[in-house]
Amino acid sequence: MQDRTLLGPGALLGVLGGGQLGRMFALEARRMGYRVAVYTAEEDNPAAHLADLTVRAPYEDLDALARFCAAVDAVTFEFENVPAATVATAAEHTRVRPGGRLLAVAQDRLEEKATFAALGLPIGAYAAVRSVEDHAAAAAAVPGRSVLKTARLGYDGKGQRKLASAEELPAAHAALGERPCILEAFVPFVAELSVVGARGADRSVALYEPFLNTHAQHILDVTVCPAPASPAVLRDAQDIARTLLEGLDVVGVLCVELFLLGDDTLLVNEIAPRPHNSGHLTLGAHQASQFEQQVRALAGLPLGSPARIGPPAAMANLLGDLWRDGEPAWDRALARPGVALHLYGKTSARPGRKMGHLTATAPTPEAAEALVRAARAALT
Ligand code: AMP
Repeated sequence: MQDRTLLGPGALLGVLGGGQLGRMFALEARRMGYRVAVYTAEEDNPAAHLADLTVRAPYEDLDALARFCAAVDAVTFEFENVPAATVATAAEHTRVRPGGRLLAVAQDRLEEKATFAALGLPIGAYAAVRSVEDHAAAAAAVPGRSVLKTARLGYDGKGQRKLASAEELPAAHAALGERPCILEAFVPFVAELSVVGARGADRSVALYEPFLNTHAQHILDVTVCPAPASPAVLRDAQDIARTLLEGLDVVGVLCVELFLLGDDTLLVNEIAPRPHNSGHLTLGAHQASQFEQQVRALAGLPLGSPARIGPPAAMANLLGDLWRDGEPAWDRALARPGVALHLYGKTSARPGRKMGHLTATAPTPEAAEALVRAARAALT
């Protein structure tokens, strides 16, 4: 059943998860006059600082969750590893967007690949490695260079092993605890792109221009927009995002990560059923941010415009490593015109932990990237 009721400002919007994505959702929701309730299992909750109400309980505590969902007007989530039973319980008590189907697909890399294939989207060669019995067939299907990933609960390169050839499969699978995995042929990409898009309760679709992403240590490092690719590639990338939003009947925000090959074709890597780190620069660079779209879709408002407001933009993540020798020199980064700071208010700066990000705008994408990198370098 699709609920078309409009939840106006003043309504209490619930978010499962207390991280930075929930925090930026809360920022946008509050700007628009909504109240925000956070349900989280964690101790350090950037989203809770901005919430009207925070409930701290495990996601498996379905009684606590049911009480939370009965108290709010609608629920969304800010990370994908919410247990399926949690989402099902939430849906018994309130509006949940996006719905459980997208979440189930995004939670399992095997399910995800099968869904991409069923929607006719381009993907690389892969094989299921659910147990050691699958080793021989997987090695035959993907004999060369590859990446073995746990099917569930992996992120930012966690639960992944690179293989020079399928001979290394038994050892790599053992290192991942012989959990159900996917073996993907290594993709010799020339660039990684992402498209963030939203679909409203009225079924309208709003797509941002594709972003160019570079990773460091498997974690997103820098995003640049617009991505410097041919018009045909940019159109293909947006078409893929639209196919996913429509094919999975999403009401909410989704991000699709893509590999660009040397011949200008694209392969789908994975999806996130929520706003994405690569879309953080929409907060400032675009008319409606990805978090505003999430609020609008959840509330049943028309989507905002995804058009860029001003010049090209870039974003650089700030990881906990930057705090190794003390507080970063914020003044040195922010002395540069066009640079803006977003910090998530996390209490401890562990290496590899996403603490915040910088954005920069400049007359060209290359200049925006150079500026945001220089600003970050000036911090230490
Ligand atoms: P993922 O968690 O699947 O997004 O993987 C993290 C990063 O690892 C990607 O953004 C790529 O840089 C790299 N990667 C993942 N899968 C592959 C692949 N099949 N071939 C080449 N690089 C990959």
